[in-house]
Amino acid sequence: MSAPQATIEVGQNEELNSNTRPLRMILIGPPGVGKGTQASLLEQRLGAIPLSSGMIFRAEIEADTDLGHLAQSYIKRGELVPSGITIEMMRKRMSTDNVRKHGFILDGFPRNIRQAEALDEILVEMEIDLDFAVSLDVNDEIVVQRLSGRMGCTKCGEIYHSQTKPPKREGLCDKCNSPLMTRSDDHPDTIRERLRVFHEQTAPLCDYYEKKGLLKRVDGSKSPEEVYDQIVAGLDLDRS
Ligand SMILES: [Zn+2]
Repeated sequence: MSAPQATIEVGQNEELNSNTRPLRMILIGPPGVGKGTQASLLEQRLGAIPLSSGMIFRAEIEADTDLGHLAQSYIKRGELVPSGITIEMMRKRMSTDNVRKHGFILDGFPRNIRQAEALDEILVEMEIDLDFAVSLDVNDEIVVQRLSGRMGCTKCGEIYHSQTKPPKREGLCDKCNSPLMTRSDDHPDTIRERLRVFHEQTAPLCDYYEKKGLLKRVDGSKSPEEVYDQIVAGLDLDRS
C-alpha cells in the first residue's frame, strides 16, 4: 500500500510520562457511560493515546488510504465496517512508534471475540502485554435517563438535557431561540435497543478477559474523578 500514513496528534504530555512505562488498556462500557471522558483523563495524566475505531476510520479516510476507502464504503451505507478491515487498521495504528512509546486506551475495539483474538495476535507481534480490560458498569436505567433527556438545537446545535442542563424556556434554545429536538438515537426505545446489542456483544468479551485475569470492573455511575481513581487504583507504571 503506497498511501501515506494517517497521523494522530499526540505527545504534548511527554514530560509527564517520561518516568513511567506506557499504559495499555481496553475500555468497555455502554453508550453514555463516559468512556470518552475517561480516555481523555488517561491521556492528559498518563500520556496514553486513545484509540477508538471511529477515530481510526476517520484518520484513514482523511489520509485517503485504501483501507480508508474500504471503510468509507460501509459507513456510507450505514453498515458496520467488517472486522477484517477494522483489525487491519488497528494493527497499523498500534504498531506506530507513538503508540509503542505512549501506550493506548482502546475504545470500541475489540467489540467481539474474533477481534479480541486478533488483538492478542497484534500484542504478541509487538511483544507487549495488556495491563487490563476495564468494564465501566452502570445500570441500564441510568444510561436511559442520561441519554434520553438530551435535546439539540435545530439551528446552532447546542445540546441541552432535561435534568442536568434544561433550557431557560421549555423547548427553545437559550442562545438562538430556535426549537429544540430529540435525536432519534436518543429516544428511550432506541437507547434500550442499543443497550441490548451492547450487552449481547460485551458479555462474552468480559468473560474472555476475566478468564485471562485481566478484567477490572469499575462502578461507572460515579463522578468522572471517582471513576478515574477506580481505573488507576493499583496500577503500577513505574519503570523500575
Ligand atoms: Zn440554538
